[in-house]
Amino acid sequence: MNHIQKKIAQIRDEYACELPERIREIEDCWHRVLQSGGSLDSLNKLLYLLQNIAGACASFGYERISQRTNRLKELVQELISNEGEITEKQRILIEEIIEMMKTEALVSIKKDYTDHGTFYSLSSASFSRDRRSDLVVLISEEEEELKNLAFQISHFGYTVKAFEGIENLSHILSEDVIPSALILDTVLDGDEIKGAETIKKLKNKFGHNLPVLFISNQDDIHIRLKVIRAGGDEYFVRPFNIIDLIDRLDVLTSDKTEEPYRVLIVEDEPKLALYYSILLKQAGMEAEIVNNPLDVFSCLFEFNPDLILMDMYMSQCNGKELAKMIRQMKAFVCIPIVFLSAETDPVQKFSAMSVGGDDFITKPVEPEHLISSVRIRAERMRMLRSFMDRDSLTGLLNHSKTKEQLDISIDRARRMNTSVTFAMIDLDHFKRVNDTYGHYVGDMVIVALARLLQQRLRKTDIIGRYGGEEFAVILNSTTPEQARMILDEIRVSFSQIRHRAGEDEFRATFSCGIATYPDYKDVTELIKAADEALYSAKNQGRNRIIVLKK
Ligand code: GH3
Ligand code: MG
Ligand code: MG
Ligand code: MG
Repeated sequence: MNHIQKKIAQIRDEYACELPERIREIEDCWHRVLQSGGSLDSLNKLLYLLQNIAGACASFGYERISQRTNRLKELVQELISNEGEITEKQRILIEEIIEMMKTEALVSIKKDYTDHGTFYSLSSASFSRDRRSDLVVLISEEEEELKNLAFQISHFGYTVKAFEGIENLSHILSEDVIPSALILDTVLDGDEIKGAETIKKLKNKFGHNLPVLFISNQDDIHIRLKVIRAGGDEYFVRPFNIIDLIDRLDVLTSDKTEEPYRVLIVEDEPKLALYYSILLKQAGMEAEIVNNPLDVFSCLFEFNPDLILMDMYMSQCNGKELAKMIRQMKAFVCIPIVFLSAETDPVQKFSAMSVGGDDFITKPVEPEHLISSVRIRAERMRMLRSFMDRDSLTGLLNHSKTKEQLDISIDRARRMNTSVTFAMIDLDHFKRVNDTYGHYVGDMVIVALARLLQQRLRKTDIIGRYGGEEFAVILNSTTPEQARMILDEIRVSFSQIRHRAGEDEFRATFSCGIATYPDYKDVTELIKAADEALYSAKNQGRNRIIVLKK
């Protein structure tokens, strides 16, 4: 077998492993069809899923499932042409077919298990990644300091288990939950680092990448060296800023997996599209397929790809025309477009590049060429985007990007008939902070709030730095009451953080205004309402949240 064949064989096996999940998706989707009383939306979704499976199973040789999928496809198409009317007989038939597919999918995996034992063991090993927790083990010799540190660290989304005295370090050896980091506020025992032996044992048990942070009263190169040798990853000297410690903790405990690149595949031949998508997914990317080029625009906004892989010749409109249309939209001027075509005529290729193509890959595609070409361009796009969209101090979205996101969120909420809550946050008496402690310290307070918001909000929430000391938060599918609860917890936590300025410590607070779509029906109204609410919060004494409702 040559390399490509091997790869395809592997994809075929991987596909078999995915099949039960795919069929579960089909089943879920079917349940949604029933729940919605046969809505065309859900039926079309089901049809789309079935088309994917049918195409892939056929090209990967899973004949039986492919046939069943085709039968299901026919049945679903029948339902769609009947406007979603489902008879009892049809329901039973569809569910029977799904049941059979479930069994057959398991058989396909078993078959491959005997052929490719190594592949199977590879996928089960990948489970071990999720073992990490947000648990931080903290040890200090001083009761007061222990309480203080535990209290501060817990404000940043970590669960802190605090022990007084280094001798307690060995207790965690017997615990089941693996801590995500160890913080030792203790250093020397005579000439030796306290707990060095236990740290070794802990690293042996929990893995050598268990981060260990030391806090010390002495800034001494000899001690630093000993700490390094004892397995310490960080060394903080008092007085230090809690934000710096949290920063390091975040970096050391993050699992460092970059969000996968998102590639949009526009290709009117579904099987081929699927083949590309499998190649890309296998290389760790996310891929979305658009078979009808005219559907590309909705997908662009929803999926927000880093790159578009585009077939040159498609029935409804060709790749050049489509690329031109995409480039006419401000949001996608920079998105890399890679053309795929059997075209060998250099003049044609040149003309495709002149409308904004970034590369031209000739079919049949070498998998490695496809993957590397996509990866290089997606990577550059990511970098470019992060410079354009993000604020350099906090890494949060900048003003214009935040507004753009709010637009997208409102559109989505309108479509899905749900709500979006918009919150504006402004630090209280911030001029005073700058005047008293200086601009740099002020900046650190801004960073502390950015960090807290990032840690406490969900991945799906959008956080922006709206102005100098102003932040905006977009909470999708969230009512104003829910948003108030979440943000109020953040407000309280923030007010308890002790910020450091030289030898001084101080606290800061913020005010927040909240408004929700569909109470306010477009971006302008929603922002205005949140701004008004913020203004009231300031007027009513600051350090509070006001919700504006109609
Ligand atoms: P309040 O909002 O409670 O009414 O009072 P305030 O003192 O915060 O007043 P306002 O919001 O009008 O002033 C914002 C101040 O924040 C002005 C400016 O000195 C400071 N500021 C704005 N951007 C930054 C920044 O990026 N870094 C720092 N350190 N300060 C900033
Ligand atoms: Mg084509
Ligand atoms: Mg302000
Ligand atoms: Mg302010």
